[in-house]
Amino acid sequence: MTPVQNDRQQFASDNLAGICPEALQSLLDANASGHQPAYGDDVWTQKSTDMIRELFQTDCDVYYVFNGTAANSLALASMCQSYHSVICSPVAHIETDECGGPEFFSNGSKLLVGEDESPAARLGKLTPDAVEHLVTKRRDIHYPKPKVVSITQATELGTVYTVEEVRAIAAIAKRRHLKVHMDGARFANAVAALDVHPSEVTWRAGVDVLCFGGTKNGLPMGEAVVFFDRELSADFAWRVKQAGQLASKMRFISAPWVGMLDGDTWLRNARHANAMAQRLHQAIHALPGVRVLHPPQANSVFVQLPAAAIARLHAAGWLFYEFIAGGGCRLMCAWDTQPETVDAFAADLAGVCAQAA
Ligand SMILES: *Cc1c(COP(=O)(O)O)cnc(C)c1O
Repeated sequence: MTPVQNDRQQFASDNLAGICPEALQSLLDANASGHQPAYGDDVWTQKSTDMIRELFQTDCDVYYVFNGTAANSLALASMCQSYHSVICSPVAHIETDECGGPEFFSNGSKLLVGEDESPAARLGKLTPDAVEHLVTKRRDIHYPKPKVVSITQATELGTVYTVEEVRAIAAIAKRRHLKVHMDGARFANAVAALDVHPSEVTWRAGVDVLCFGGTKNGLPMGEAVVFFDRELSADFAWRVKQAGQLASKMRFISAPWVGMLDGDTWLRNARHANAMAQRLHQAIHALPGVRVLHPPQANSVFVQLPAAAIARLHAAGWLFYEFIAGGGCRLMCAWDTQPETVDAFAADLAGVCAQAA
């Protein structure tokens, strides 16, 4: 059994990993760039914003906030009045893991959870049918008026919407006069998995606002809120400031994005994390007692394990969550997960499964 080390790599979350070298170098370069204007008027913020526009091949508006909860909450608030509602999946981070942030920052816009029994829904995806159902079942003034559809790419279950699936949801949204929000905390992993141009699965598919995550992919902190529909960002700067999300030393949030986007580091990091999830899946899917809950597409593997095996792995010092989203054990790989870590975990799992069997 692997000895417990408190600094060893883990599978609990991709936010346990540190800063990738490219982002760190930019952070150091930004620190060496003397005095710079505050609140985003610096050269680094200009540069990273231009790079995001180039990346998406469109003239989008870009804002930086400290974390994903703020990005989602403020983006949704910018699209909603308090009497509006946001349609999302029952496992959406905005529904289950943001402590009511989206409702709070929108002054009460309600989240409407789209439930159905379709195969796509079991993979953590919102479906066009679920959206249509929620929009059409009530239209009276006693029901919070649907205004936004929010999808998570990659999903909370480590699956990925195809371009066609995003288009189909956006098509229903447009027909029903809803805006489309994408929670892209793991957008990089989704793009790496799909192997498409990032524009194809966002604005070209009908996405109005993307919360582009970087933290889980190797940034120190900070997510970019990307408005493809620029009308929606009219007062966003004030919203960010009021929410306490405007960094005065903005360059230290934006500069790491420069290192991340330069030379497609963001995609390389995500491809690596995805490949480690595939390696893990390969190593453990056939072990006795292991049931893979759905095929991994991004950087996580969800498995059902015998209770005794879970206890022994935890006792051996392995950290992972057991109750995220659809349940089961979530094994999450990061940009820096080493193949040796995957192999060591798989060997320990094989050991405890043999014991449990
Ligand atoms: C991690 C995550 C976020 C952002 O979480 P913060 O802890 O607020 O940065 C948002 N959405 C999803 C799907 C996530 O996994």
